[in-house]
Amino acid sequence: MTSAATARSLVAKHGAGEGHAVTRSTFGPITLSRTTRHAWLLIVGVALAAPAWTAADQEAHQAAITFDDFPGGEALACQVAICRRIANALKAQGIPAVAFVNEGQLYRKGEVDSRIGILRDWLDAGLELGNHTFSHVGIDSVSLPQYEEDVIRGETVTRMLMAEKGRPLRYFRHTQLRTGPTTEYREGLGTFLRNRGYTVAPVTVDTQDYMFAAVYADAKHRGDVALQGRVLDEYRAYVQENFSFHERLAVEVLGREVRHVVLLHVNHLNADLIDELLATLKKRNYSFMSLEEALQDPAYARPEPTTRKGWSWIQRWILAEGGEARPEPREPPWVTDAVGALTARRRSDR
Ligand SMILES: [Zn+2]
Repeated sequence: MTSAATARSLVAKHGAGEGHAVTRSTFGPITLSRTTRHAWLLIVGVALAAPAWTAADQEAHQAAITFDDFPGGEALACQVAICRRIANALKAQGIPAVAFVNEGQLYRKGEVDSRIGILRDWLDAGLELGNHTFSHVGIDSVSLPQYEEDVIRGETVTRMLMAEKGRPLRYFRHTQLRTGPTTEYREGLGTFLRNRGYTVAPVTVDTQDYMFAAVYADAKHRGDVALQGRVLDEYRAYVQENFSFHERLAVEVLGREVRHVVLLHVNHLNADLIDELLATLKKRNYSFMSLEEALQDPAYARPEPTTRKGWSWIQRWILAEGGEARPEPREPPWVTDAVGALTARRRSDR
């Protein structure tokens, strides 16, 4: 698939309404537009070197890393390289990770064995695989039995590969982090997953990496180095802002930090930046653990609300107590527009 097709499929998968369609964020008592906030950060950064609201950044944090939509929809050679770079970086640093598979992505004419090979490479690096449904099915568009069928269809190869390593297939990640449009659906699916031996993999630090990645991949394929650089700079700033936001939100809701579960995707952007990303998190005082260890945090036993949106679990804990979800940092408007333009261009090409 071309990079633009990837952009299209990513946008189609994740949609604009995944629960983050807010361009304003609240930092303590101050609510600022993104532009104003960036200007503010610059001013305070210059004046004080350490803006007051980054005090929490210095605390010790813990996180498990996860990747969704594995093995990804790029052209085979690209996808092999992307997944290897990410797996090698994690392995070299001894950082565990779970990649959630859409087995539907394995079935490309003449490429099935090679794409299954990407999954094997991941396991050979000592990393783990989970189920993310066969076709990345949208929970709002199918009945519970249909969704369950897509879960079952999505575990065939993954379960076999895990068994070859003597390991059980144990984690499930909902597509778009949507757990079911009604309480009946959500609880029914929860029971089904438990009975099938799955533990649901929640997310506390959700990212819009796929939006940046769509623009980045297109620029990379077109050899537009300037645009790649621009996306990288924006993504770096976004990563810092997004981690700050979720760290502070956890403290606000729980009175303490949580063992975070970070959601990323396997794409050119994260492959090119993986070492820097991990270094950034280490500089933020992160230590890494397996998903199993992270989920031992008692916060994950807190009640979950029924919501149609793919919120971070921290936001769900707020909703469950009758509160309102907070506006999350998201990609700058020009990235949203660029992804929109890519999507439109692909549509007219068809
Ligand atoms: Zn996904």
